[in-house]
Amino acid sequence: MVNKIIVAGGGHGGIAAAMLLAKRGYDVTVYEKNAKGKMGYDWTDIFDRKGWTAVGIPMPDESKYKLKQDMTFYGPAMETALTQHTEEDKKEIQMERSDIYAHLIEHAEKAGVKFEYEQNIEGPIFFGNRVVGIKTDKGEYLADLVIDACGLNSPVRRGMPASTGIQNNPIEYEQFYIYRAFFNKACEVEEDDKFKVILLPNNELGISWIATEEEHTDVLIGRFRPFDREYAMSQIELLREGNPSIGTEILRADDFANIPVRQPLGVLVADGYAAIGDSGFMTVPVIGSGIANSLKAAKILADAISSDCTASYSAETLWTYQKNFYKEIGAALAPLACVKLLLTRLQGPELDYIFAKGILNADDMTIDADSTSLGAMLGGMSMDDIKTKLNGLINNKVVLGKVVKMGLQLARATAVTAAMPTTYNRKTILRWVDEYNACFKH
Ligand SMILES: Cc1cc2nc3c(=O)[nH]c(=O)nc-3n(C[C@H](O)[C@H](O)[C@H](O)COP(=O)(O)OP(=O)(O)OC[C@H]3O[C@@H](n4cnc5c(N)ncnc54)[C@H](O)[C@@H]3O)c2cc1C
Repeated sequence: MVNKIIVAGGGHGGIAAAMLLAKRGYDVTVYEKNAKGKMGYDWTDIFDRKGWTAVGIPMPDESKYKLKQDMTFYGPAMETALTQHTEEDKKEIQMERSDIYAHLIEHAEKAGVKFEYEQNIEGPIFFGNRVVGIKTDKGEYLADLVIDACGLNSPVRRGMPASTGIQNNPIEYEQFYIYRAFFNKACEVEEDDKFKVILLPNNELGISWIATEEEHTDVLIGRFRPFDREYAMSQIELLREGNPSIGTEILRADDFANIPVRQPLGVLVADGYAAIGDSGFMTVPVIGSGIANSLKAAKILADAISSDCTASYSAETLWTYQKNFYKEIGAALAPLACVKLLLTRLQGPELDYIFAKGILNADDMTIDADSTSLGAMLGGMSMDDIKTKLNGLINNKVVLGKVVKMGLQLARATAVTAAMPTTYNRKTILRWVDEYNACFKH
Protein backbone atom coordinates (compact mmCIF):
# COMPACT_ATOMS: atom_id res chain seq x y z
CA MET A 1 0.00 0.00 0.00
CA VAL A 2 1.28 3.47 -0.88
CA ASN A 3 1.76 5.67 2.16
CA LYS A 4 -0.16 8.88 2.09
CA ILE A 5 1.50 12.07 3.26
CA ILE A 6 -0.06 15.50 3.71
CA VAL A 7 2.12 18.60 3.62
CA ALA A 8 0.18 21.25 5.54
CA GLY A 9 1.03 24.65 4.00
CA GLY A 10 3.33 25.29 1.08
CA GLY A 11 6.44 26.23 3.06
CA HIS A 12 9.74 25.79 1.22
CA GLY A 13 10.91 22.82 3.29
CA GLY A 14 7.53 21.14 3.04
CA ILE A 15 7.46 21.33 -0.76
CA ALA A 16 11.04 20.10 -1.02
CA ALA A 17 10.31 17.16 1.32
CA ALA A 18 7.18 16.43 -0.72
CA MET A 19 9.29 16.32 -3.89
CA LEU A 20 11.88 13.95 -2.39
CA LEU A 21 9.17 11.67 -0.98
CA ALA A 22 7.12 11.60 -4.19
CA LYS A 23 10.29 10.55 -6.03
CA ARG A 24 10.55 7.66 -3.57
CA GLY A 25 6.98 6.51 -4.32
CA TYR A 26 4.94 8.20 -1.58
CA ASP A 27 1.54 9.72 -2.35
CA VAL A 28 2.05 13.35 -1.32
CA THR A 29 -0.36 16.29 -1.40
CA VAL A 30 0.41 19.88 -0.39
CA TYR A 31 -2.54 21.89 1.01
CA GLU A 32 -1.95 25.64 0.63
CA LYS A 33 -4.18 28.59 1.53
CA ASN A 34 -3.11 30.83 -1.35
CA ALA A 35 -4.20 30.49 -4.96
CA LYS A 36 -1.90 28.83 -7.52
CA GLY A 37 0.88 31.25 -8.54
CA LYS A 38 0.16 33.58 -5.60
CA MET A 39 2.43 32.14 -2.94
CA GLY A 40 5.11 34.00 -1.05
CA TYR A 41 5.84 37.72 -0.97
CA ASP A 42 6.56 40.35 -3.58
CA TRP A 43 10.21 40.73 -2.55
CA THR A 44 13.64 39.15 -2.88
CA ASP A 45 15.40 36.78 -0.48
CA ILE A 46 19.02 36.04 0.24
CA PHE A 47 20.05 32.45 0.98
CA ASP A 48 22.77 29.84 0.71
CA ARG A 49 22.66 28.23 -2.75
CA LYS A 50 23.56 24.90 -1.12
CA GLY A 51 19.88 24.74 -0.12
CA TRP A 52 19.16 23.74 -3.73
CA THR A 53 21.88 21.12 -3.94
CA ALA A 54 20.82 19.62 -0.58
CA VAL A 55 17.52 18.56 -2.15
CA GLY A 56 18.96 17.71 -5.56
CA ILE A 57 17.34 20.64 -7.38
CA PRO A 58 19.61 22.22 -10.00
CA MET A 59 20.49 25.90 -9.65
CA PRO A 60 17.94 28.11 -11.40
CA ASP A 61 18.91 29.87 -14.62
CA GLU A 62 21.58 32.54 -14.04
CA SER A 63 19.12 35.26 -15.04
CA LYS A 64 17.03 34.35 -11.98
CA TYR A 65 19.57 35.19 -9.28
CA LYS A 66 22.45 37.46 -8.39
CA LEU A 67 25.06 37.45 -5.65
CA LYS A 68 24.23 39.18 -2.37
CA GLN A 69 25.91 42.52 -1.73
CA ASP A 70 28.07 42.86 1.37
CA MET A 71 26.23 44.57 4.23
CA THR A 72 27.52 47.52 6.25
CA PHE A 73 26.43 47.44 9.89
CA TYR A 74 25.94 50.47 12.12
CA GLY A 75 24.94 51.09 15.72
CA PRO A 76 22.25 53.72 16.39
CA ALA A 77 24.74 56.62 16.42
CA MET A 78 25.74 55.68 12.84
CA GLU A 79 29.35 56.50 13.69
CA THR A 80 31.22 53.23 13.11
CA ALA A 81 30.65 51.34 9.89
CA LEU A 82 31.47 47.62 9.79
CA THR A 83 31.42 46.38 6.19
CA GLN A 84 31.39 42.66 5.45
CA HIS A 85 33.96 41.29 3.02
CA THR A 86 32.58 38.01 1.77
CA GLU A 87 34.64 35.97 -0.66
CA GLU A 88 32.94 35.70 -4.04
CA ASP A 89 32.41 31.92 -3.91
CA LYS A 90 30.91 32.12 -0.41
CA LYS A 91 28.38 34.80 -1.25
CA GLU A 92 24.73 33.91 -0.79
CA ILE A 93 22.35 34.33 -3.70
CA GLN A 94 19.47 36.75 -4.01
CA MET A 95 16.26 35.68 -5.78
CA GLU A 96 12.71 36.89 -6.16
CA ARG A 97 10.52 34.92 -3.73
CA SER A 98 8.12 34.16 -6.61
CA ASP A 99 10.99 32.64 -8.63
CA ILE A 100 12.08 30.50 -5.66
CA TYR A 101 8.54 29.12 -5.42
CA ALA A 102 8.23 28.62 -9.19
CA HIS A 103 11.51 26.65 -9.27
CA LEU A 104 10.55 24.51 -6.26
CA ILE A 105 7.00 23.80 -7.43
CA GLU A 106 8.12 22.92 -10.95
CA HIS A 107 10.40 20.20 -9.56
CA ALA A 108 7.83 19.00 -7.03
CA GLU A 109 5.11 18.67 -9.68
CA LYS A 110 7.52 16.83 -11.98
CA ALA A 111 8.12 14.36 -9.15
CA GLY A 112 4.35 13.76 -8.84
CA VAL A 113 3.43 15.98 -5.86
CA LYS A 114 -0.21 17.10 -5.93
CA PHE A 115 -1.14 20.65 -4.91
CA GLU A 116 -4.51 21.65 -3.45
CA TYR A 117 -4.68 25.45 -3.43
CA GLU A 118 -7.08 27.76 -1.60
CA GLN A 119 -7.41 25.38 1.33
CA ASN A 120 -7.28 27.26 4.59
CA ILE A 121 -6.04 24.81 7.22
CA GLU A 122 -7.78 25.16 10.57
CA GLY A 123 -5.94 22.53 12.59
CA PRO A 124 -4.89 18.90 12.98
CA ILE A 125 -7.26 15.95 13.23
CA PHE A 126 -6.44 13.41 15.96
CA PHE A 127 -7.24 9.76 16.53
CA GLY A 128 -6.31 9.35 20.18
CA ASN A 129 -2.91 11.01 20.49
CA ARG A 130 -1.99 10.54 16.85
CA VAL A 131 -2.29 13.20 14.15
CA VAL A 132 -4.22 11.54 11.33
CA GLY A 133 -5.00 14.48 9.08
CA ILE A 134 -5.92 18.13 8.76
CA LYS A 135 -9.15 20.10 8.80
CA THR A 136 -9.48 22.90 6.26
CA ASP A 137 -12.29 25.29 5.36
CA LYS A 138 -13.09 22.92 2.48
CA GLY A 139 -13.12 19.60 4.34
CA GLU A 140 -11.17 16.98 6.26
CA TYR A 141 -8.21 15.08 4.80
CA LEU A 142 -6.59 12.00 6.29
CA ALA A 143 -3.07 10.66 5.87
CA ASP A 144 -0.43 8.42 7.46
CA LEU A 145 1.71 11.47 8.23
CA VAL A 146 1.25 15.24 8.33
CA ILE A 147 4.31 17.40 7.59
CA ASP A 148 3.66 20.83 9.06
CA ALA A 149 5.03 23.51 6.70
CA CYS A 150 2.51 26.20 7.62
CA GLY A 151 5.07 28.69 8.88
CA LEU A 152 5.49 30.67 12.08
CA ASN A 153 1.80 30.81 12.99
CA SER A 154 0.98 27.26 11.95
CA PRO A 155 -2.54 26.24 13.04
CA VAL A 156 -1.34 22.63 13.04
CA ARG A 157 1.50 23.26 15.53
CA ARG A 158 -0.88 25.43 17.57
CA GLY A 159 -3.28 22.50 17.81
CA MET A 160 -0.72 20.07 19.23
CA PRO A 161 -1.44 19.02 22.84
CA ALA A 162 1.00 19.86 25.65
CA SER A 163 1.63 16.13 26.17
CA THR A 164 3.72 16.11 22.95
CA GLY A 165 6.14 18.75 24.29
CA ILE A 166 5.57 20.80 21.13
CA GLN A 167 5.51 24.52 21.90
CA ASN A 168 2.39 26.03 20.32
CA ASN A 169 3.45 29.67 20.08
CA PRO A 170 6.64 31.73 20.19
CA ILE A 171 7.01 34.01 23.21
CA GLU A 172 8.28 37.60 23.59
CA TYR A 173 11.55 38.38 21.76
CA GLU A 174 11.20 35.20 19.71
CA GLN A 175 9.79 36.77 16.56
CA PHE A 176 10.52 39.79 14.47
CA TYR A 177 7.66 41.98 13.25
CA ILE A 178 8.56 43.31 9.81
CA TYR A 179 7.41 45.97 7.39
CA ARG A 180 9.16 45.96 4.03
CA ALA A 181 8.74 48.14 0.94
CA PHE A 182 10.64 48.82 -2.27
CA PHE A 183 10.73 52.58 -2.90
CA ASN A 184 11.79 54.36 -6.07
CA LYS A 185 15.54 54.99 -6.00
CA ALA A 186 16.00 58.74 -5.56
CA CYS A 187 19.80 58.80 -6.11
CA GLU A 188 22.91 56.63 -6.46
CA VAL A 189 25.01 55.80 -3.38
CA GLU A 190 28.62 54.83 -2.64
CA GLU A 191 29.51 51.13 -2.88
CA ASP A 192 29.84 50.66 0.92
CA ASP A 193 26.48 52.35 1.48
CA LYS A 194 24.56 50.03 -0.83
CA PHE A 195 23.31 47.67 1.89
CA LYS A 196 23.13 49.40 5.27
CA VAL A 197 21.88 47.55 8.33
CA ILE A 198 21.27 49.66 11.43
CA LEU A 199 21.07 47.78 14.72
CA LEU A 200 18.90 49.32 17.47
CA PRO A 201 17.93 52.25 15.18
CA ASN A 202 16.91 55.33 17.21
CA ASN A 203 17.50 53.10 20.25
CA GLU A 204 14.49 50.98 19.28
CA LEU A 205 14.74 47.22 19.83
CA GLY A 206 15.19 45.94 16.31
CA ILE A 207 16.90 46.64 13.01
CA SER A 208 16.32 48.74 9.90
CA TRP A 209 17.90 48.12 6.55
CA ILE A 210 18.28 50.18 3.44
CA ALA A 211 19.44 48.29 0.36
CA THR A 212 19.93 50.55 -2.64
CA GLU A 213 19.62 48.32 -5.69
CA GLU A 214 19.54 48.95 -9.43
CA GLU A 215 15.78 49.36 -9.76
CA HIS A 216 14.67 50.42 -6.27
CA THR A 217 15.61 51.05 -2.64
CA ASP A 218 14.57 48.17 -0.40
CA VAL A 219 13.65 49.32 3.11
CA LEU A 220 12.98 46.93 5.98
CA ILE A 221 11.79 47.88 9.45
CA GLY A 222 12.07 45.01 11.95
CA ARG A 223 11.10 45.24 15.62
CA PHE A 224 10.60 42.82 18.50
CA ARG A 225 7.07 44.17 19.02
CA PRO A 226 4.08 44.63 16.73
CA PHE A 227 3.67 48.02 15.03
CA ASP A 228 1.39 49.64 12.50
CA ARG A 229 1.80 51.38 9.16
CA GLU A 230 1.93 54.83 10.74
CA TYR A 231 4.91 53.78 12.87
CA ALA A 232 6.64 52.15 9.88
CA MET A 233 6.26 55.32 7.80
CA SER A 234 7.54 57.51 10.65
CA GLN A 235 10.66 55.30 10.94
CA ILE A 236 11.21 55.43 7.17
CA GLU A 237 10.89 59.22 7.26
CA LEU A 238 13.66 59.29 9.88
CA LEU A 239 15.80 57.01 7.70
CA ARG A 240 15.35 59.30 4.70
CA GLU A 241 17.35 62.04 6.47
CA GLY A 242 20.60 60.08 6.19
CA ASN A 243 19.62 57.95 3.21
CA PRO A 244 18.56 60.11 0.28
CA SER A 245 18.23 57.06 -2.00
CA ILE A 246 14.86 56.26 -0.37
CA GLY A 247 12.31 57.85 -2.68
CA THR A 248 8.74 58.63 -1.70
CA GLU A 249 6.92 56.30 -4.09
CA ILE A 250 6.31 52.68 -3.03
CA LEU A 251 6.88 50.47 -6.06
CA ARG A 252 6.54 46.95 -4.62
CA ALA A 253 6.43 44.74 -1.52
CA ASP A 254 4.58 47.10 0.90
CA ASP A 255 3.77 44.26 3.28
CA PHE A 256 3.94 43.19 6.93
CA ALA A 257 5.20 39.76 7.97
CA ASN A 258 6.79 37.95 10.91
CA ILE A 259 9.99 35.92 11.17
CA PRO A 260 10.96 33.53 13.96
CA VAL A 261 14.27 34.61 15.55
CA ARG A 262 14.72 31.99 18.23
CA GLN A 263 16.12 28.54 18.87
CA PRO A 264 14.61 25.74 16.75
CA LEU A 265 11.42 24.16 18.09
CA GLY A 266 12.47 21.87 20.94
CA VAL A 267 10.34 18.91 19.85
CA LEU A 268 9.77 18.65 16.11
CA VAL A 269 7.82 15.39 16.01
CA ALA A 270 4.81 13.58 17.43
CA ASP A 271 2.88 10.50 16.37
CA GLY A 272 1.92 11.19 12.74
CA TYR A 273 3.46 14.69 12.79
CA ALA A 274 6.70 16.47 11.84
CA ALA A 275 7.36 20.24 11.71
CA ILE A 276 9.69 21.86 9.16
CA GLY A 277 10.81 25.39 8.20
CA ASP A 278 9.30 28.32 10.10
CA SER A 279 6.76 25.95 11.72
CA GLY A 280 9.81 24.41 13.39
CA PHE A 281 11.49 27.83 13.96
CA MET A 282 14.46 26.88 11.77
CA THR A 283 15.66 30.39 10.91
CA VAL A 284 19.09 31.72 11.89
CA PRO A 285 18.07 33.48 15.13
CA VAL A 286 20.13 36.64 14.63
CA ILE A 287 19.41 37.29 10.97
CA GLY A 288 16.12 35.48 10.28
CA SER A 289 17.19 33.54 7.16
CA GLY A 290 15.24 30.33 6.92
CA ILE A 291 15.04 29.23 3.30
CA ALA A 292 18.29 27.26 3.03
CA ASN A 293 17.80 25.63 6.44
CA SER A 294 14.30 24.51 5.56
CA LEU A 295 15.53 22.98 2.28
CA LYS A 296 18.39 21.21 4.07
CA ALA A 297 15.91 19.98 6.71
CA ALA A 298 13.70 18.59 3.92
CA LYS A 299 16.41 16.12 2.91
CA ILE A 300 16.93 15.07 6.54
CA LEU A 301 13.16 14.58 7.00
CA ALA A 302 12.66 12.65 3.74
CA ASP A 303 15.55 10.33 4.63
CA ALA A 304 14.12 9.72 8.11
CA ILE A 305 10.65 8.98 6.72
CA SER A 306 11.94 6.56 4.13
CA SER A 307 14.13 4.80 6.68
CA ASP A 308 11.02 4.03 8.78
CA CYS A 309 10.47 0.51 7.43
CA THR A 310 7.56 -0.05 9.83
CA ALA A 311 5.83 2.96 8.21
CA SER A 312 4.45 3.80 11.64
CA TYR A 313 5.61 7.45 11.53
CA SER A 314 5.43 7.53 15.30
CA ALA A 315 7.31 10.03 17.48
CA GLU A 316 9.79 7.21 18.16
CA THR A 317 10.61 6.56 14.50
CA LEU A 318 10.47 10.24 13.50
CA TRP A 319 12.98 10.99 16.26
CA THR A 320 15.64 10.12 13.65
CA TYR A 321 14.62 13.35 11.91
CA GLN A 322 14.83 15.34 15.15
CA LYS A 323 18.24 13.86 15.99
CA ASN A 324 19.74 14.38 12.56
CA PHE A 325 18.28 17.88 12.17
CA TYR A 326 19.88 18.94 15.46
CA LYS A 327 23.14 17.19 14.59
CA GLU A 328 23.46 18.81 11.16
CA ILE A 329 21.76 22.21 11.70
CA GLY A 330 19.94 22.81 14.99
CA ALA A 331 22.81 22.40 17.45
CA ALA A 332 24.71 25.23 15.76
CA LEU A 333 21.62 27.45 15.39
CA ALA A 334 20.26 27.23 18.93
CA PRO A 335 23.13 29.00 20.76
CA LEU A 336 22.85 31.89 18.28
CA ALA A 337 19.55 32.70 20.00
CA CYS A 338 21.73 33.82 22.97
CA VAL A 339 23.50 36.35 20.72
CA LYS A 340 20.09 37.70 19.71
CA LEU A 341 19.14 37.94 23.39
CA LEU A 342 22.23 40.09 24.00
CA LEU A 343 20.97 42.48 21.32
CA THR A 344 17.61 42.75 23.13
CA ARG A 345 19.42 43.67 26.39
CA LEU A 346 21.80 46.29 25.05
CA GLN A 347 21.04 49.99 25.13
CA GLY A 348 21.85 51.90 21.93
CA PRO A 349 24.94 53.69 23.37
CA GLU A 350 26.25 50.34 24.64
CA LEU A 351 26.14 48.87 21.15
CA ASP A 352 27.81 52.01 19.78
CA TYR A 353 30.56 51.51 22.39
CA ILE A 354 31.05 47.88 21.25
CA PHE A 355 31.36 49.01 17.62
CA ALA A 356 33.57 52.03 18.37
CA LYS A 357 36.02 50.03 20.51
CA GLY A 358 36.37 47.40 17.79
CA ILE A 359 35.03 44.68 20.09
CA LEU A 360 32.89 43.65 17.14
CA ASN A 361 34.66 44.21 13.85
CA ALA A 362 34.03 43.71 10.14
CA ASP A 363 35.31 40.10 10.34
CA ASP A 364 32.78 39.28 13.05
CA MET A 365 29.95 40.66 10.91
CA THR A 366 31.00 38.70 7.82
CA ILE A 367 28.42 35.94 8.08
CA ASP A 368 28.56 34.13 4.76
CA ALA A 369 26.87 31.05 3.35
CA ASP A 370 29.26 28.82 5.29
CA SER A 371 29.22 30.62 8.61
CA THR A 372 25.64 31.07 9.73
CA SER A 373 26.48 29.00 12.75
CA LEU A 374 28.01 30.08 16.00
CA GLY A 375 30.66 27.40 15.68
CA ALA A 376 31.83 28.90 12.42
CA MET A 377 31.61 32.47 13.73
CA LEU A 378 33.49 31.74 16.92
CA GLY A 379 35.61 29.05 15.31
CA GLY A 380 37.54 31.78 13.53
CA MET A 381 38.41 33.40 16.88
CA SER A 382 41.36 32.29 18.99
CA MET A 383 41.29 32.40 22.79
CA ASP A 384 43.54 35.47 22.47
CA ASP A 385 40.91 37.15 20.24
CA ILE A 386 38.22 36.47 22.83
CA LYS A 387 40.46 37.75 25.67
CA THR A 388 41.25 40.91 23.69
CA LYS A 389 37.56 41.50 23.14
CA LEU A 390 36.73 41.06 26.82
CA ASN A 391 39.67 43.30 27.82
CA GLY A 392 38.23 45.97 25.55
CA LEU A 393 35.15 45.97 27.80
CA ILE A 394 37.06 46.21 31.07
CA ASN A 395 36.20 49.92 31.46
CA ASN A 396 32.53 49.38 30.83
CA LYS A 397 31.33 47.06 33.55
CA VAL A 398 27.67 47.20 32.48
CA VAL A 399 28.37 46.01 28.94
CA LEU A 400 30.94 43.51 30.21
CA GLY A 401 28.27 42.08 32.55
CA LYS A 402 25.82 41.70 29.68
CA VAL A 403 28.40 40.03 27.44
CA VAL A 404 29.48 37.65 30.20
CA LYS A 405 25.82 36.79 30.87
CA MET A 406 25.45 35.97 27.18
CA GLY A 407 28.58 33.81 27.29
CA LEU A 408 27.25 31.80 30.23
CA GLN A 409 23.83 31.42 28.63
CA LEU A 410 25.48 30.34 25.40
CA ALA A 411 27.62 27.71 27.12
CA ARG A 412 24.57 26.28 28.88
CA ALA A 413 22.49 26.29 25.67
CA THR A 414 25.27 24.48 23.81
CA ALA A 415 25.58 21.83 26.53
CA VAL A 416 21.83 21.25 26.93
CA THR A 417 21.29 21.06 23.16
CA ALA A 418 24.10 18.51 22.88
CA ALA A 419 22.47 16.47 25.66
CA MET A 420 19.27 15.95 23.65
CA PRO A 421 18.05 12.36 24.23
CA THR A 422 19.10 10.00 21.45
CA THR A 423 15.90 7.96 21.59
CA TYR A 424 12.30 9.02 22.13
CA ASN A 425 10.85 8.49 25.57
CA ARG A 426 8.04 10.89 26.30
CA LYS A 427 8.93 11.59 29.95
CA THR A 428 12.61 12.13 29.19
CA ILE A 429 11.80 14.30 26.19
CA LEU A 430 9.42 16.51 28.19
CA ARG A 431 12.08 17.02 30.86
CA TRP A 432 14.74 17.80 28.26
CA VAL A 433 12.60 20.28 26.31
CA ASP A 434 11.81 22.26 29.47
CA GLU A 435 15.50 22.51 30.22
CA TYR A 436 16.27 23.43 26.59
CA ASN A 437 13.73 26.26 26.47
CA ALA A 438 14.87 27.54 29.87
CA CYS A 439 18.33 28.22 28.36
CA PHE A 440 16.88 31.04 26.28
CA LYS A 441 15.03 33.09 28.91
CA HIS A 442 15.21 36.85 28.33
C1 LIG B 1 10.43 40.19 5.49
C2 LIG B 1 11.04 38.84 5.45
C3 LIG B 1 12.24 38.69 4.83
C4 LIG B 1 12.87 37.45 4.79
N1 LIG B 1 14.04 37.35 4.16
C5 LIG B 1 14.65 36.16 4.09
C6 LIG B 1 15.84 36.02 3.38
O1 LIG B 1 16.35 36.98 2.78
N2 LIG B 1 16.44 34.80 3.36
C7 LIG B 1 15.90 33.72 3.97
O2 LIG B 1 16.48 32.63 3.92
N3 LIG B 1 14.74 33.83 4.67
C8 LIG B 1 14.11 35.01 4.74
N4 LIG B 1 12.93 35.12 5.43
C9 LIG B 1 12.45 33.96 6.18
C10 LIG B 1 11.79 32.99 5.25
O3 LIG B 1 10.64 33.56 4.72
C11 LIG B 1 11.40 31.70 5.97
O4 LIG B 1 12.30 31.35 6.96
C12 LIG B 1 11.34 30.57 4.97
O5 LIG B 1 10.41 30.89 3.99
C13 LIG B 1 10.95 29.25 5.60
O6 LIG B 1 9.65 29.34 6.07
P1 LIG B 1 8.52 28.37 5.54
O7 LIG B 1 8.65 28.25 4.08
O8 LIG B 1 8.58 27.18 6.38
O9 LIG B 1 7.25 29.18 5.98
P2 LIG B 1 6.44 30.28 5.22
O10 LIG B 1 7.30 31.04 4.29
O11 LIG B 1 5.70 31.05 6.26
O12 LIG B 1 5.42 29.44 4.37
C14 LIG B 1 4.28 28.85 4.96
C15 LIG B 1 3.30 28.47 3.88
O13 LIG B 1 2.15 27.93 4.51
C16 LIG B 1 1.00 28.60 4.05
N5 LIG B 1 0.03 28.65 5.14
C17 LIG B 1 0.14 29.35 6.30
N6 LIG B 1 -0.97 29.18 7.05
C18 LIG B 1 -1.79 28.38 6.34
C19 LIG B 1 -3.08 27.86 6.57
N7 LIG B 1 -3.76 28.15 7.67
N8 LIG B 1 -3.63 27.06 5.63
C20 LIG B 1 -2.96 26.76 4.50
N9 LIG B 1 -1.73 27.23 4.21
C21 LIG B 1 -1.15 28.03 5.13
C22 LIG B 1 1.47 29.99 3.65
O14 LIG B 1 0.58 30.58 2.73
C23 LIG B 1 2.83 29.68 3.06
O15 LIG B 1 2.73 29.31 1.72
C24 LIG B 1 12.26 36.33 5.45
C25 LIG B 1 11.02 36.47 6.05
C26 LIG B 1 10.40 37.70 6.05
C27 LIG B 1 9.06 37.82 6.71
